[in-house]
Amino acid sequence: MITAKTIAEVRQAVAAARKQGQVIGLVPTMGALHEGHMSLVDAARRQCGFVGVSIFVNPTQFGPDEDLSKYPRPLENDLALCQAHGVDLVFVPEVKEMYSCGGTGFQPVPKGTGYKPVPPQKVAEMYPPGSLTRIHVDRLTEGLCGASRPGHFDGVCTVVAKLFNIFQPDAAYFGQKDYQQAAVIRRMTADLDLPLRIEVCPTVRENDALAMSSRNAYLGREERQQAAALSESLRLAADLVGQGRRAAQELKAAMREHLARRAPLGRIEYIEIVDPDRLTPLQEVEAPAVAALAVKFPSARLIDNMTLRP
Ligand code: AMP
Repeated sequence: MITAKTIAEVRQAVAAARKQGQVIGLVPTMGALHEGHMSLVDAARRQCGFVGVSIFVNPTQFGPDEDLSKYPRPLENDLALCQAHGVDLVFVPEVKEMYSCGGTGFQPVPKGTGYKPVPPQKVAEMYPPGSLTRIHVDRLTEGLCGASRPGHFDGVCTVVAKLFNIFQPDAAYFGQKDYQQAAVIRRMTADLDLPLRIEVCPTVRENDALAMSSRNAYLGREERQQAAALSESLRLAADLVGQGRRAAQELKAAMREHLARRAPLGRIEYIEIVDPDRLTPLQEVEAPAVAALAVKFPSARLIDNMTLRP
């Protein structure tokens, strides 16, 4: 397994794999890897000859009051997990590698064209450090997590687009756990004609059905017990829909009531029932819909979602 710190190393390894005819898969992560992440790696492993994982705690997707500095970074453990799951390359860039135009000027120049490439030092002078470019996906980013995390999805889209350009993968793997993120990235990929397939894999859960998350580690004992209420309330909504209930108001009220009773330490940030593609709030569940919620505990903000099938 290659551990690459620079964009140039990634490009070199990917180019070599591609030369051998391998299909390239990418799993972008922020590290503190768990079974949820590894399920994406395993899916990539089944479909691709070369599997890359990126581990980058991307500062531009954190708000000023969020957990950037305390976000867990157990790198050795992460690398061991990647090795055990047959990952070919782990990309662990420093912030300056990602945000100092490091990848520019690499593209090889066809022989015999007489064209002289601009040397990387010159490129660095032409484009001083600090990225000025942002990718913004409209509408899909307005509600749900976007409402309370301004700029978050711009940060996600920009870094994911950069990773797509660095790896140029045939497929990239995301988790249903971050439903809005997957929808936004799908849309960005389509809108920008990016030549890859986006695969979205099911949410992996703990024994009590809490969605696995790197942020679960922040939870104290009591918070951890109460955190199971997120998936319980989603399950409750799915069961009510199964019994023929359709009104979103009623479903949301039942979820709210369950959370208030079962997770008094948690403050509900949102509970929504949305169209699975547009992410717009629905009044009635007439076709498959997505129930999504965010709950703020004193030590961590947790999100989860579930598809409701009438
Ligand atoms: P993160 O490191 O939190 O940015 O997550 C990296 C990728 O792993 C994202 O595509 C997440 O949706 C996915 N992921 C995180 N937790 C889970 C989970 N419990 N089940 C499936 N995928 C997950």
